[in-house]
Amino acid sequence: MTSPVVSIIDSDQPEKWQQMLSDLITDPKELLQILGLNATDYPGDPDMLRQFPMKVPRPFAARMEAGNWRDPLLLQVLPSSLEAVQVEGLVADPLQEAAANPVPGLLHKYAGRVLLTAVPHCAVHCRYCFRRHFDYAGNAPNRSEWVKAIDYIAADPGITEVILSGGDPLAASDRHLRWLIDRINDIEHVSSLRLHTRLPIVLPQRVTPGLAALLGGSRAKPVLVVHCNHAQELDLQVASALSQLTDNRIILLNQAVLLRDVNDNLPALVALSKRLFQLHVLPYYLHLPDRVAGTAHFQVSAATGRELISGMQAQLPGYLVPTLVQEQPGASAKTRLA
Ligand SMILES: *Cc1c(COP(=O)(O)O)cnc(C)c1O
Ligand code: SF4
Repeated sequence: MTSPVVSIIDSDQPEKWQQMLSDLITDPKELLQILGLNATDYPGDPDMLRQFPMKVPRPFAARMEAGNWRDPLLLQVLPSSLEAVQVEGLVADPLQEAAANPVPGLLHKYAGRVLLTAVPHCAVHCRYCFRRHFDYAGNAPNRSEWVKAIDYIAADPGITEVILSGGDPLAASDRHLRWLIDRINDIEHVSSLRLHTRLPIVLPQRVTPGLAALLGGSRAKPVLVVHCNHAQELDLQVASALSQLTDNRIILLNQAVLLRDVNDNLPALVALSKRLFQLHVLPYYLHLPDRVAGTAHFQVSAATGRELISGMQAQLPGYLVPTLVQEQPGASAKTRLA
């Protein structure tokens, strides 16, 4: 008997998730039509779409509520004419990351940890994304540049954690990831390997047995931080993807962004923490949105954030209350707000 799973993973044939990744919804009108919303009511702005195109995986769209313009998943991904609104204090590079970029693809901002922008693209375009103006082209390393990033880590025994970020690191093929993870695992002073990814949420088919085994087999202790903002994002397919990861002894955490009209209310945040816990995921950070141009309509104040955290503390065990943080340029860690 042949084993189809193994033969697909080891061959050059695209896997199912890769096919789905090349069949994203990129036309707002198509998404609205799927949801039974009247596309003629949608004020599309071609400029905005050119700058940061719409990208929505079909399994994510399937979790949206038909007929609801205010659906919390739809609001995260549907380009809005509000993105053209200029507001003082919202800028293209709010984190001033260019300064912490010693070799292409590597950010060394915090003690002990480096972040690799492992893959220059994502499966979804979140409209609030702080990387919407990021110079991915200038930060898409080739193999020889990867070797420089690895050499940089190997040369600094103070680096104990490597964080694969992006874009989305799981948009890479298993083969590419395996190469990178093997190199990282060769560096003895690296004791943990962290991935920050939204793919298990927006395209849970990405979590194959091969991927779970690859990550679970890392010598450096694997930690996977998913990025989920609303309980409605967590359906049975996501649950099954996450359980493959926990079955491989991978620690799961969640980071969310506090977004106006998406999750800036107590019931939504409490439901998110409870649902994550059911799936063996602990809440880690709740970020205030970065002060990036084009995201004024998503901004929530620190005062509102603190109030929501107090509300969560009154209802939940401490381990289900995320830490409210904000990124400030030049700081030696994320800034705790509550
Ligand atoms: C957020 C971040 C980290 C990780 O910070 P933790 O507080 O450990 O989660 C590391 N490097 C960079 C550049 C970051 O933005
Ligand atoms: S997945 Fe993360 S990096 Fe990618 S668009 Fe969304 S917020 Fe930005």
